[in-house]
Amino acid sequence: MPATGTLYICATPIGNLEDITLRALRILREVDYIAAEDTRHTLKLLNHYGISKPLISYHEHNQKERGHKIIELLKQGHSVALVSDAGMPGISDPGIPLISLARENGIPVTVLPGPTAAITALVLSGMDTSRFAFEGFLPREKKDREARLEELKCEQRTIILYEAPHRLVATLKDMLDKLGNRKVAVVRELTKIHEEVIILNLEQMLQHFNEHPPKGEIVLILEGCGNQDTQHKDVWNISIKEHIKQYMAQGFDKKEAIKQVAKARGLPRNEVYKHSIDT
Ligand code: SAM
Repeated sequence: MPATGTLYICATPIGNLEDITLRALRILREVDYIAAEDTRHTLKLLNHYGISKPLISYHEHNQKERGHKIIELLKQGHSVALVSDAGMPGISDPGIPLISLARENGIPVTVLPGPTAAITALVLSGMDTSRFAFEGFLPREKKDREARLEELKCEQRTIILYEAPHRLVATLKDMLDKLGNRKVAVVRELTKIHEEVIILNLEQMLQHFNEHPPKGEIVLILEGCGNQDTQHKDVWNISIKEHIKQYMAQGFDKKEAIKQVAKARGLPRNEVYKHSIDT
């Protein structure tokens, strides 16, 4: 047995059990232990592939104590695979504290790439992938949530969010109130039988899900600020002057800010310029 074991960060399917790599299956068969967020959940995957392994429960509420236990096993030369309930451990899931602890202890760490709902949904939505920001779940507490949405108001990149179905309508409403009416994709049940992508503006989406309460797992892909296409150019809820100021607050000079606003709103530059006289 080598002096120190390796920690394998192992992505698992986000729905369809076939979405697992050959390497992940081999490593899950070879390691000494599997650290799993929910051992019963992981057992279903392991049983499907006929893998039998000692499981260690590692989740949000025991990660400190279990983390040290897992590091001890690694130091003794045992190898450990870390899995979460779905997708990539560490992405809105437990994992990062263990990975950083392993690094601090000089333990070899490697990753077995695989699905993550964020990227899968982004690509499926067909929205702009050239620059994007992953926001995970919005904070639940009203004040923190509002503060986060305020921060996102001028985010130009496409925004990826996770949300639970029972909170979707409230979240769409908060986004409409704080960010204005813009394009959003609701991507549900990725890789499963009822996989669905709906792309509308926030107002229409809110109406849709008020009438058809959502079920299943959801990723939201939200158009960035300033990317509204001509179909949505009338949905700005701020004045042209405020819009210019927003760009200037982000570091654009006045000329560039006018250019950006004109582009975003589909207006001639000289029209936008008139609103900039005393900015
Ligand atoms: N680690 C996971 C990953 O790599 O995507 C994310 C775990 S996070 C606790 C769970 C959230 O991911 C769900 O609430 C949902 O927003 C999103 N998610 C996971 N699987 C999904 C699926 N099949 N379809 C849509 N969203 C999914």
